Amino acid sequence: MDPAAPHTELDVVILGAGMSGLCMAIQLQKAGFMDFVIVEKSAGIGGTWWDNRYPGAQVDVPAPAYSFSFAPNADWTHRFADAPEIQRYQQRLAQAHGLPAQMRLGRAITQARFDAGAGRWRLLLDNGERLSARFFVCSTGALNRARWPDIPGLADFQGRLLHSARWPTATNLAGLRVGVIGTGSTAAQLVPALAPAVAHLSVFQRTANWVMPRVDRRYGRLDRWLTGWAPYARFTRWAWAGVLECSRRGFDEGTWTRRFMQAAAASHLKRQVADPTLREALVPPYPLGCKRIIFSNDYYPALARPQTELVTAGIKRATARGLLTADGREHPLDALVCATGFDTTHPLAETRIEGLGGQRLADAWRDGPAAYLGITVPRFPNFFLMLGPNTATGHTSTLLYIEPQVQHAIACMQRVQREGRRWIAVKADVAAAQDAAQQQRLAGSVWSQCRSWYRAENGRIVAIWPGFTRDYVRAVRRPDPAAYALG
Ligand code: NAP
Repeated sequence: MDPAAPHTELDVVILGAGMSGLCMAIQLQKAGFMDFVIVEKSAGIGGTWWDNRYPGAQVDVPAPAYSFSFAPNADWTHRFADAPEIQRYQQRLAQAHGLPAQMRLGRAITQARFDAGAGRWRLLLDNGERLSARFFVCSTGALNRARWPDIPGLADFQGRLLHSARWPTATNLAGLRVGVIGTGSTAAQLVPALAPAVAHLSVFQRTANWVMPRVDRRYGRLDRWLTGWAPYARFTRWAWAGVLECSRRGFDEGTWTRRFMQAAAASHLKRQVADPTLREALVPPYPLGCKRIIFSNDYYPALARPQTELVTAGIKRATARGLLTADGREHPLDALVCATGFDTTHPLAETRIEGLGGQRLADAWRDGPAAYLGITVPRFPNFFLMLGPNTATGHTSTLLYIEPQVQHAIACMQRVQREGRRWIAVKADVAAAQDAAQQQRLAGSVWSQCRSWYRAENGRIVAIWPGFTRDYVRAVRRPDPAAYALG
């Protein structure tokens, strides 16, 4: 990238127009940073809710906790909101704050290089446009890069091949023989939505998962009217966040919460699946919580339908007609849906990001992504991650993590301005100490006991925050001045 070429000069560039990108933009406005641009690779606003428009997509935490503290939503129709409702919420937020005018939709950032002399990020977009910003915020989150399964011969399959996280809106699979690979949170929503419409559904399960009842309810006019009253909206958000926080205890061996959750899942399986062979096949082979717990009332019933088959024999390879399993059976399919999740170990791999001394982020993250409190990376000044490494949880709403991260990043930006400096970066020893303590806490935890998107192949747990949400908020909300160096 030619540093001498003309750049559009900005305060901040935000990569990603999902929940964290929108929150960052709104809070930047409140803090007086008006000069920013949001670059988004998709054609619309929404981030994960734009990508994951598969049938049945819903959030699996109660909607009051899936709203920002500064933007309660009186329009949720159910406790567990579906993807289109969430997108409408995002659209309204963006419109209310005039954000569409500051967006570059359908654009990717291919290169980002920190110019230490100027204290600015030089960014190159895929259309050749050049931006220059004091601060660069990557709000792409962990679940951004769809992961295709490593099945030999997948390219030979002649039917329709889809990934749940790249779902074309006009897809109609009615009357077809459909295969779904995967049995995670996504498949558990997709399978019940597809099962009634398709001619035959084969669900390819490699690992059975823990499924708990979803205590859903419709929100009536009274709920909506009450939510229009700010103290009520604040209270329900606070109350749900508290309930979810209590469930964090379920990940610790020997707690009553864990016993209760295990019993609830076992009885859910018993109640919903009468066939003993199917039930046996659905017993998870790993401890509760190691992978994300599924909350569903219609997944087990969808598997028990006569036209659904749970295939537990391993997939050997794909053929032109379908999938061949290890027992020698070929499963003929018209369409194959990969609900196989996300690559969480190579975030931001599409962008060449260079910090001080030309160091590449991909090199710094060779053993797996790591960041101080999931937000800042040593030698990458004026660079902030939203929903970065080790900030996911299995028990609560990501929005409860986004807001303090945004506060942290903006406080760092304000410090640079206030002190008249060019850049701020976390100190390497501080970041290393926080990471070591975190990995030590994660070693031997429930998350170390199975394969999941929380872990890299080398065993490092790259996604999970091991503690309670309140610990995270306390650690993050106000940056420790001693943790940062200024240049
Ligand atoms: P995931 O949890 O990573 O599940 C991927 C599934 O694909 C697993 O069952 C995995 O089996 C299977 N798989 C992968 N490669 C395979 C192969 N080669 N052969 C056979 N099976 C294969 O992905 P996800 O279901 O998309 O969910 C990811 C995360 O997104 C969730 O944990 C959640 O945080 C989020 N999400 C949230 C919601 C919501 O309600 N808010 C909805 C959907 C997703 P193994 O388990 O054996 O690896």
